[in-house]
This record gives sequence, C-alpha cells and structure tokens, in this order.
Amino acid sequence: MAEKKQQNSRLQRWQKDYRIVVMEPDTLKKIRSFEASKLMVAIAVFVLATLVVIATIVLLSFTPLRTWIPGYGKIEANPEFLQMTDKISELESLVKQQNTYIDGLKNMLNGVEAEVDGLEKVETSSATNNDERDIQEENASMFDRILIAPIKGEVSAPFDYETEHYGIDILGAADMPIKSVDAGVVITANYTMKHGYVISIQHDHDLISVYKHNSKLLKKKGDRIAQGEAIAIIGNTGILTDGPHLHFELWYQQNPINPITFVSL
Ligand SMILES: [Zn+2]
Repeated sequence: MAEKKQQNSRLQRWQKDYRIVVMEPDTLKKIRSFEASKLMVAIAVFVLATLVVIATIVLLSFTPLRTWIPGYGKIEANPEFLQMTDKISELESLVKQQNTYIDGLKNMLNGVEAEVDGLEKVETSSATNNDERDIQEENASMFDRILIAPIKGEVSAPFDYETEHYGIDILGAADMPIKSVDAGVVITANYTMKHGYVISIQHDHDLISVYKHNSKLLKKKGDRIAQGEAIAIIGNTGILTDGPHLHFELWYQQNPINPITFVSL
C-alpha cells in the first residue's frame, strides 16, 4: 500500500501544473506565461526530438545533402560499392567465358560454315598486297585460275543449294591423302561433331576451300600450303557420313559455289 501511494504521488508530481513565466530582467515585466506539467514538457520534448530525427532522415534520403557528410562523398570508399564492382567484373568475365563456350558449341554443332562466314581475310601471296587492284580483274583471275582436284573419285552427292548441301561428296579409298586445290593459308583445322575433322584454306581472291569428314588433319591453323600439298587423310568421321568420302566446299566472297564447275575430278 505504501509503495502504491508513493507511485501515485510521483505521478501527481509529474502531472502537477507549473507556470512558466518569461519576463524582462530589468522591469520584471511579464512578457509571456504558460502553464505546463513536467509530463507535458517531457512529451513535447520527446515529440520534438522525434520530428527532428524524422526530418533528418527524410532530408538525407531524398536530397543530395548526404554527400556533405564527411567520408560519404567518395563512393569509392563505400565497402558496399567496392563489393558490387568486384561482383560486376566477376560476372563480366563469366559472361565472356560463357560466350566463348557458346561460340565454340555453335561452331561444333554447325560445322565450319558459320566460322567461314565471319573469317578475316588472310593474305596468301605478295600479289594480294596491292590494295588498289581492280575488282574486275580479281573476279577474272578467280575464274581463270586452275584448281586441282582434292581427290579423284566419283561424286556421290552433288552441290545442292535447296538442301543446304554446299559442297560435293567425293568417294575415295581408305587413307587417301586430301590435297589442297590451290596455295593458301589454313584458317581452321578442328574437330566438329557433325563433320568430323574439318580443315579450311584461304586462297587468293577471296576464295576458301573446305574439306570435311577427314580421319586426320596433316596441317594446323596458320600453316602455309602449296597447291597440291596433302592437308588431310580421307575418313568418315562425324555423324553425317557413311563410308570414306570427302565433303568438299568452295566459298567465293562468302558464298558457296559449286566446286564441280572449277575442279575436274
Ligand atoms: Zn557432303
């Protein structure tokens, strides 16, 4: 009971009204006066403080004022920012790696055609160094040239634009060497799921020759090849083949042309 009484009297003290008077120090003239209990003053102070805190938060969140806080201006010093930039460069290199992987996969699935389309030209002889050569003359020399047959044999499948068979299949005996139709530089020499070991050679005048389904490649990317030089061994590698044969393509200015027109078998 005594404790309760003490509590009551404390509450009463807090609730007791006081008169706060503001007056001039010389004349003691009352300027202003108001009544308030201790409790009222405490609540007012609390509410005011809360308002100030909220106002500060709002100001810092929605205005550029926060950049005035020492140390905040330098975003590079923000550990979260550093973590994020680390993460971004990590992701960037991951994307690059995956792109390389996907490109490789695409080439593997499509065979060499996709690659040939985007190939940069390789200079194959000193004659091509003359940049100002007439294009007409270039075309003429393309169709005037003499290409030798990669192998001599029967054509088992002709060139057919409709079925996207952009070359001819030539039958041969096992282990026959495949010869380059002209001098040039090896631009691709790799294995693909569809076409087995594939080698392609860049020749003068924007001509590329492609040899697929080989059992073995004798040259590697970047090798310089003479006309008639052996570049591969005939085979039946890849999923699109049955029996030893060469799938042979000629690409002129990024378009497939019928090899039968240019090579006598
Ligand atoms: Zn074929």
